[in-house]
Amino acid sequence: MKHIVLISLMSLFLQAFEYNLVPKKVAEDTYCFFGKLENISKENGGNMVNTCFVHTKEGFVVIDSGPTYDYASQAYEKMQQIAKLPVKYVITTHDHDDHWLGNSFYKSKGALLIGPKTYEQNVVAGMETRMQRVLGKELYGKTSIVKLDTIVDDNLTLKAGDKVFMISQPVKAAHTKGDLIVFLKGQKVLFVGDLVFSGRITSLRDGSLVGSLEALDMIDAYGAKVIVGGHGYETDATVTEHFRSYLQEMKKEVQYALDEDVGMEDITKKVTMPQYKNMKLYDVLHARNVLDAYKELEMIEDEE
Ligand SMILES: [Zn+2]
Repeated sequence: MKHIVLISLMSLFLQAFEYNLVPKKVAEDTYCFFGKLENISKENGGNMVNTCFVHTKEGFVVIDSGPTYDYASQAYEKMQQIAKLPVKYVITTHDHDDHWLGNSFYKSKGALLIGPKTYEQNVVAGMETRMQRVLGKELYGKTSIVKLDTIVDDNLTLKAGDKVFMISQPVKAAHTKGDLIVFLKGQKVLFVGDLVFSGRITSLRDGSLVGSLEALDMIDAYGAKVIVGGHGYETDATVTEHFRSYLQEMKKEVQYALDEDVGMEDITKKVTMPQYKNMKLYDVLHARNVLDAYKELEMIEDEE
């Protein structure tokens, strides 16, 4: 009997993916878990995203809940080692599933979920997510889709314990058509979701190149000391510069090609930007970004 109990307990443990999350302090009372600079895979359990949490007197505020229920549950255990406090609010920066599939865990713990309008529009109960397809049933585990409690239309000021969070959508379309940024006023920490990438290539497929550049100017205007993006390890204020140069270079080269009447079929061969070749996910995402940039800039030209 003892053996049976032990074996079934062991199989329970085996089922949950071990994320080995280590919180890194980025500012006073502010911590992040940094994910890998790669695509979603069974080997990483979807942990290729950055999520953060802020310790307030009232409880924790989480910014992006990560790729699965188990990820969120393990993140929560790490928070409890810092303080035995509930998670009061979870803010979702945008509707890409690597950032919010932990919401179902926090909902079960009584947290209030806050996010953009696009979440309500695009996240439908029962739909199969990209994460689910790649991870499979076992790793996906108890992950499910839950609704938000509060939608941020334009901006929202959230007071939690001793901290003030200013949540806003800087532009109509940048990484997606609903990107929220969260400014932790006292600490001068700005959580920017996927409006800033470091060390790897971004994806423009759901957003806008021009909007992404505008968003970077607005981010810089906050004068934040710490800027945490959705992917990548750099968190100092210069992180926007590096990301901006990738986007600006692409805009310049694609615009030049358009002026030279380069056709859509040749554009990805023309704008290779080899100086970015050793960035992670260049092979997967760069050509597609160039194509999206081409379509966008061509459309702007047609409108003018
Ligand atoms: Zn992302």
